[in-house]
Amino acid sequence: LLQVFIPLGFLGIVYRQIKYALADMDLVFKLLERPPEIADRPQAKPLALDRGQVRFEQVAFHYQPERPILHGVDFTIEPGAKIAVVGPSGAGKSTLARLLFRFYDVSDGRILIDGQDIRDLTQSSLRAAIGIVPQDTVLFNDTLYYNLAYGRPDARRAEIEQAAEMAHIRTFIDGLPQGWDTVVGERGLKLSGGEKQRVAIARAILKRPRILIFDEATSSLDSHTERAIQTTLAEVAAHHTTLIIAHRLSTVVDADRILVMDQGRVIEQGTHSALLAAGGRYAAMWELQRRERRDDDDSSAMISVT
Ligand code: ATP
Repeated sequence: LLQVFIPLGFLGIVYRQIKYALADMDLVFKLLERPPEIADRPQAKPLALDRGQVRFEQVAFHYQPERPILHGVDFTIEPGAKIAVVGPSGAGKSTLARLLFRFYDVSDGRILIDGQDIRDLTQSSLRAAIGIVPQDTVLFNDTLYYNLAYGRPDARRAEIEQAAEMAHIRTFIDGLPQGWDTVVGERGLKLSGGEKQRVAIARAILKRPRILIFDEATSSLDSHTERAIQTTLAEVAAHHTTLIIAHRLSTVVDADRILVMDQGRVIEQGTHSALLAAGGRYAAMWELQRRERRDDDDSSAMISVT
């Protein structure tokens, strides 16, 4: 009997591990839309994380050689700073995030974290340093507790509750009849877009990464939820080096620097007020959005520039 019992217990652990691994792949595929092809170099070293400075140095990139996507992209995110990337659909904003997470290698130039070329690092150390809040969060058919703990499976309950509090989702969870044991996902309670994004923020907080990538949802949040998420994000971002892929100008006004991208190039960069004063593309986008806002009185109007 004992012989049967032990392997079963062991299987239980393995099952959980496989479940985490599969879940991880799920997220990765979602972000990537295809499997990763990047492998560690033979001499790959773990990232020696210092303060979390991120540098893109003359980065060029293509998914297919016949179609270049990024050209000479050059910027630095100082430790703890918040950089927002704006620009029309297809400009290459999300590609920057994928390159930083090293789903692909650059075609030319370098990406450095604290002075280290990310191609020389082990992927596990690189990815441990970076948290991503994706546009579309994958929820598992499991309890809310499991779904939040996914950010760091070894986290203690108190840490998970604190992360939920910081992400402003704890009151919501505590108010549910089954609380943390509520099953969510396709076969359970359906969460709204805003609630899902809070779960993602809580996961990112738990992971405690030095670098945070926030891919703002393009739609599906009402303007009240939108503002609440932005406030939450601003609080969380204060502790990290943050790259925000932004779709709303209201998200970017308080960024330390805004990169305006178009057709794979950074065409302008500066603070909100400097870019407005420069009277270029950003200023035109702002004016356009201001007019749209007046039309529909929706302060969360999208950046819609072509
Ligand atoms: P959006 O605001 O719509 O999310 P974006 O600025 O984030 O757009 P990216 O997703 O970075 O744009 O895409 C930049 C370009 O790269 C697009 O023209 C897109 O078609 C192309 N692209 C993106 N992913 C792939 C891929 N896996 N294979 C080939 N081309 C791709």
